[in-house]
Amino acid sequence: GLPMDTFESAVAWEDFKLNGDGLVPVIVQDYKTSQVLMLAYMNEEAFACTLRTGKMTYYSRSRKCLWLKGETSGHFQYVKSLRLDCDNDTVLALVHQIGAACHTGSRTCFFQTLAEKEYKETNPLKVFEDVYGVILDRKEHPKEGSYTNYLFDKGIDKILKKLGEEATEIVIAAKNPNPEEVKYEISDFLYHMMVLMAEKGVTWEEITEELANR
Ligand code: AMP
Ligand code: ZN
Ligand code: ZN
Ligand code: ZN
Repeated sequence: GLPMDTFESAVAWEDFKLNGDGLVPVIVQDYKTSQVLMLAYMNEEAFACTLRTGKMTYYSRSRKCLWLKGETSGHFQYVKSLRLDCDNDTVLALVHQIGAACHTGSRTCFFQTLAEKEYKETNPLKVFEDVYGVILDRKEHPKEGSYTNYLFDKGIDKILKKLGEEATEIVIAAKNPNPEEVKYEISDFLYHMMVLMAEKGVTWEEITEELANR
């Protein structure tokens, strides 16, 4: 596992507003992606254990005992940040999740959709990840008439030629005072760049990590 971390809480357990069972609900979120992973409860001992070990420890309401998340599955949750909400009745934990948070094997417990309105994903990194995912999928499962597969079939020199052309088109478009054109060309460029990433086996996570380290 990871090296053990210990934490000190800025707010004492006595100052938490507990629910009827003397517990505090904990919302657990992936620290990298902000994905909500699960909801569980802590008693005082679970909270102290979590601070001492840096591993999320809960109170199991069904088993009525302390529950170190990952104890049997190996799917531990390493604390990155613990936060308390405005009225001290709910904890938010940002964690480094090993494997799946859910006992079903799902990354998140919240995989059942109850109701949904059609919406477009607008989080830039998620959109990049989605497009990159489609490109990788085309590489693995070629699709008839796919331009992406045409590029992969032609090979790296074709991909690089297109990338160079699109870069030049950005420069030309940027001379135009109307930003619409440069938006279009940057999108073209980013797509071809992601085809190159897929060809080279470079992931978005590796790139964002590199940028964050600078
Ligand atoms: P684990 O702590 O991951 O080793 O799992 C031990 C047991 O805790 C499982 O067999 C489940 O009964 C329960 N469990 C694990 N993860 C969850 C979860 N996200 N929500 C509810 N119960 C869970
Ligand atoms: Zn609250
Ligand atoms: Zn679950
Ligand atoms: Zn173009």
